[in-house]
Order: sequence, then C-alpha cells, then structure tokens
Amino acid sequence: MSPAAPPTPSAIGHWIGGEGADAADGRTLDVTDPASNRPYAQVARGGPADVAQAVDAARTAFPDWAATAHHERARVLHRIADTVEDRHDRLAAFESYDSGLPIGQARGQARRAAENFRHFAGVITTLGEEAFRQGEEQLSYVVRGPKGVAGLITPWNTPFMLQSWKLAPALAAGCTVVLKPAEWTPLSASLWPEILTTAGVPAGVVNVVHGTGPEAGQALVDHPGVPLISFTGSTTTGRHILRSCADHLKAASMELGGKSPVVVFADADIGAAVDAVVFGAFSLNGERCTAGSRVLVERPLYEEFTCRVAERAAGLRVGPPADPATEVGPLVHSDHYRRVLEYVRHGCEEARLVTGGGRPAHLPEGNYLQPAVFAEVPRDARIFQEEIFGPVLALAPFDGEEEAVGLANATRYGLAAYVWTSDLRRGHRIAHAVDAGMVWINSHNVRDLRTPFGGAKASGVGREGGAHSIDFYTEPKSVHVALGEARPPRLGEGARP
Ligand code: NAD
Repeated sequence: MSPAAPPTPSAIGHWIGGEGADAADGRTLDVTDPASNRPYAQVARGGPADVAQAVDAARTAFPDWAATAHHERARVLHRIADTVEDRHDRLAAFESYDSGLPIGQARGQARRAAENFRHFAGVITTLGEEAFRQGEEQLSYVVRGPKGVAGLITPWNTPFMLQSWKLAPALAAGCTVVLKPAEWTPLSASLWPEILTTAGVPAGVVNVVHGTGPEAGQALVDHPGVPLISFTGSTTTGRHILRSCADHLKAASMELGGKSPVVVFADADIGAAVDAVVFGAFSLNGERCTAGSRVLVERPLYEEFTCRVAERAAGLRVGPPADPATEVGPLVHSDHYRRVLEYVRHGCEEARLVTGGGRPAHLPEGNYLQPAVFAEVPRDARIFQEEIFGPVLALAPFDGEEEAVGLANATRYGLAAYVWTSDLRRGHRIAHAVDAGMVWINSHNVRDLRTPFGGAKASGVGREGGAHSIDFYTEPKSVHVALGEARPPRLGEGARP
C-alpha cells in the first residue's frame, strides 16, 4: 500500500541566481517514492555547466552578502527559521514521502531545521573575535572574514535538516553557497527557493544544483571558484572528495560514516538503556549516522538485555511513512534496500538472528524491512565492522571494562559512542577511552548545537557546530600593531667601503 501522496511537483529544477532552471543539457533523473519504488517526479541532472553558472551567481552575490552586518544576517536567518516553521506540515510531508521517514520523525527533523537557523543567528551575533597584548608595546588581533563560495554536499538521510545544518552557518558567516542535494531525495530541497525568497535572502546567495555525485557533485568539488567544501556522506565518497580537494588546496569538512557502540554495564538503568538502544538503532529507519548499531552488554545482563531489545524490535510498527502510527518506514531506495538485505544475509551466516530481517507480510511492495537483531556477533563479522545504515542491530557480550573498550574501538569508525552505567566514574573513564568524536553517558542522542559535531578515525575530518562551524566558513587574519614607538632592529648601518 502506498502512502497518501502529498501534492508534489512533477519536475524539480535547479535554483541559480534566484531563478529556477532546467539542466543546461536538459537531462533529468527519475525520483522514486520508497513505499512503491515508482517514479513520481523528474529532477534536473546537473553537470559542470550548471555548476559553473551557479558558482558565477554565488560569486556575484558574495561581496554584498559578506559586507552585510552580522546583526542583519542574523535577522535574515531568523526569518528563514520563521518561514521554515510556517511550512512545517508541507516540509515534513515532502520529506516523509520522498525519503520514507515516518511522518512523526520527519516533523521532528523539520523543527530541527528551523532551530539550526535560530542557533546560528545567535552564534554570529554573540561570537567575538580575539585580541592579544604583549604588554603596552604590541597588540595583535584576529578578524574573521567569510571564505567565499561554499560548496555544500549532502546525503539522503534527513535531507532538509542536514542541508540546514550547513546552510545556516555558511550564511551566518557571510559565505554564499552552492548546494548539491542527494539525488535520491531532492523533493524537500525544492522548497528552498520559496523559503529563501520569502525570507528576503538576496538572489545568488544560495544556489541549488541537483544531479548525481560523480557529475554535479564532482564538478562542484573541482570548481576553482569554490574554496571550501562541506560534505556529509559515506566514508568512501568522503575519501575521494578529500583527494580532489587536495588537488585544489581547498578547505574540507568531512562528516562521514559510523558504526557506533553502545556499552551497557550490568548496573545500568536497564529500562532506559533498552529504550535508548531501540530508539538509537531503529528511529529514522536506522538511517542515522550516529545510530548505536553495535550494542556491547556486560555478560551478567546480556541474555536478559538481548531478549528485551529483541522483543521491542519485533513490536516496532513498520508501515507507510505517512501513517502517524508508523515507527519504521521503507528504506530510502531500492538499491539501498538490496544492500541492507545483503547485510542481513551475511549476518545470518556470521551470527544468530534473534528477530526480524525480512519483509513484513502486510507490506508486499516498497523497501520495507522488519528491524533485525543479531546476537553473539563476533568482532570480525561484517555486520560488526561495516556501516549498514539500516535497521540492523548487532549485540555482543563483554567481561569487564578493558574488553568493553577493546570491542568499542575495534572498528575503523569513531563517530559516536554511548555508555550506560550507574557508576559515573566508570562512565567517564569509558567516555575518555573510546575513540569517538561524541560520547553520551546515560543518555540517548541529545545534541547541544554549540558542541563540536564530527567523528574520529574513518568517521570524519574536522568539526562543525556552534563556533566550530563559523571557524570553518571563515578565514582568520591576524593584524599586528605596535602601540608604542616602533623600534625595528636597524640593519645596514655598517661603514661604507
Ligand atoms: P554518499 O557518500 O553516497 O553521497 C553523499 C553525497 O555526496 C550525495 O549528494 C552524492 O551525490 C554526493 N557525491 C557522491 N559522489 C560524489 C563525488 N565524486 N563528488 C562529489 N559529490 C559526490 O552518501 P549517502 O549514501 O548519500 O549517505 C549515507 C552516508 O552518509 C552514510 O555513510 C552516513 O553515515 C553518512 N552520514 C554522515 C553524517 C555525519 O554527520 N557524520 C550524517 C549523515 C549521514
């Protein structure tokens, strides 16, 4: 059964210099609905010519936007937030329809998108610059200016929210941008032109070019007029983009994949830990970069914990994304669905399947999967090591802190980690010992937007969030001034021959 379709555009175009545009060569890609896999729209398939036009528009708009006072940029950001909130229902319906996110969760992501703009409006008006004095003699101060045209490349999970996570700080910092949304989920990005125009963002400050990664994305990465790239996506693509950035000496921020551990000790608040594990692994259809997809449980609690998590996973309501009762919707695309099923197949050879892993009988078409829980997963199993990015959870027992940390750190990723224990000193010890950019103790994934967001090891390079984002989108310049009388060493006063 297909969810009720919201009224969607049948053609989604670029937005360049404040105007809608088709691809320069007229090509398009099909956009499908994950509940039926039927195409419902065509999106412009951009390439180097489209990117070049968008970069020109962004470069033309740059001087005025960069010169706009901070408080004025902040007002624009607040207006964007207001406009996103005004379109809340339509935005959530688009996101849910196009990506398969359950509507209730898509609503949460739409609210977060508005918050991102409010947050960075606050950051840019409160952030100071730095001054250093060397006694009374010398003053050095640092001013920060926007770097130029920012290239923003985003993935298909929570598409609009992740776009706002990059657009807000880039605009706050005074950059103009070219955004390349993911080709599987372009629908919510079709709302940007209307939102940004209503909010009074000048033409050319934000440009959107659709298309595939190797065509539109690569053209953006390679364009000499774009000095920085903010990328969120897979580790494989990130590595490739970073190499291209090196060729052009571009700044790059890389938010990449994860295989985050949840470490549960026997003294934990078990009810809260079960809730958090089920939410962390299966909300957003398991397509969450910080999903706690490996759960390590202290042996005395292991059997009970596994049963409780499996019972809850079996009870998850899998269904059409538009149904408010749905807790897990269809996976974003049939290619991704096949990939996740392949991992389930590997999992059955590598570990014990406790529940799920198949198509629910009441959903004969679309990319639906009953969330899968695997137990006794060995550390060298593919489902322990590799990011699946779907509703598939791996559990394994451990004995003692040392083994817990060893297992937590046994993958190439280091995005997030979660620790559950009633011994807070131990909680902090584990948090410090785990290789991860972000650790939560006795908490599910609650963000503070001021903190650095990003990962260690193969999960990323650099951090965004609060002042860290402004750091990335601006170039610091140190200015040194003599306050007293200048007394440079005098050279060249020797006797003339
Ligand atoms: P992906 O790497 O396939 O694609 C991401 C984006 O990059 C898309 O817009 C794609 O078109 C573009 N792209 C692909 N090849 C490119 C190239 N050669 N040059 C420029 N752009 C190119 O990732 P995905 O499958 O869309 O997203 C899922 C991945 O994103 C997962 O690995 C997930 O962990 C990661 N992710 C990370 C975070 C984080 O903050 N760390 C957040 C969300 C998602």
